[in-house]
Amino acid sequence: MPQQQVLTITSTILFCWIAFIIAWERISPYRKGLKFFREGFWIDLVWYTLIQSYFLKIMIFDYIIAPMQRHWDLSEFHFVSNWPVAVQVLFFLFTHDLYIYLFHRFQHSNKFFWRFHEAHHSGKEVDFLAGSRSHIVEIIINQTIEFAPIILLGADPMVIPIKAMLDAMFGMFIHGNIKVNMGKLKYIINSPELHLWHHANYIEVFHANFATKFSFWDYLFKSVYDPGHAPGDKPENWGLHYDYPRDYFLQHAFSVKRFDEQKLLKYKWFSWYYNLRPRLMSIIDKALPAKLTTAKQAAPNQENKVPEPVALVPQEENILQ
Ligand SMILES: [Zn+2]
Ligand SMILES: [Zn+2]
Repeated sequence: MPQQQVLTITSTILFCWIAFIIAWERISPYRKGLKFFREGFWIDLVWYTLIQSYFLKIMIFDYIIAPMQRHWDLSEFHFVSNWPVAVQVLFFLFTHDLYIYLFHRFQHSNKFFWRFHEAHHSGKEVDFLAGSRSHIVEIIINQTIEFAPIILLGADPMVIPIKAMLDAMFGMFIHGNIKVNMGKLKYIINSPELHLWHHANYIEVFHANFATKFSFWDYLFKSVYDPGHAPGDKPENWGLHYDYPRDYFLQHAFSVKRFDEQKLLKYKWFSWYYNLRPRLMSIIDKALPAKLTTAKQAAPNQENKVPEPVALVPQEENILQ
């Protein structure tokens, strides 16, 4: 099948999936009252989903993987190229999912690598778009490790758009504000039931539910936390337990050097930049219907203080050390 046709089909499926997930979130919400244009919606959409993805795709494929291919092209060995496309997709899905489970778990246990992952946990209102919030370094590492083997081993060119489509579909599903009962399937396929807990601000889940697509990694490696109820609807039940910048560039700066935004406000240039986003947001908020927009944003100088995480009483078998 011509590559352009594959791209058209995968893009069409993806747009239908987005509409389906958005409708599902409205029909059966995990947290009731979460607005469509919730806090951080525009950063996740404009910066993380559109701008960052666009530039990182060029960087990863043209400036990292292409030079690698010139040095280590293994396609002549036909390791995978003789397999049917479906088997190739499953093979890379499975192997990359194991890698991402292990790396994700490592990021939660390593202070240095946590700095490239905390952005993903910073949202207090998690929905289908929230999964796009990932630090530049995290994306470069993960997507290079994801797509380089596909190209270097000479897989069918169709595998890349199919795999990218599945990544996006799973990302939207597991972060979707959807109340879903997976039944026995929850032991195999990851879902909001487990992954939304991973975004909760509880000590018990800081080292739990690392899986992306296949939840069996968490069951296999005993890192599942599934108490049978939701984390709660209060903002302090979600996200990080410490203050984290709301601005895309400040979020990346924060991973390099910790700073207190309130103290930096004494500098005129910082104050101007810091207040630019709330000013733009208030213009956008006024232009949108009130029922779709998020609750009133905190004034720049009155940032919400996030309380310490509220410890639940975990079930005995779910306590993770
Ligand atoms: Zn995580
Ligand atoms: Zn997530």
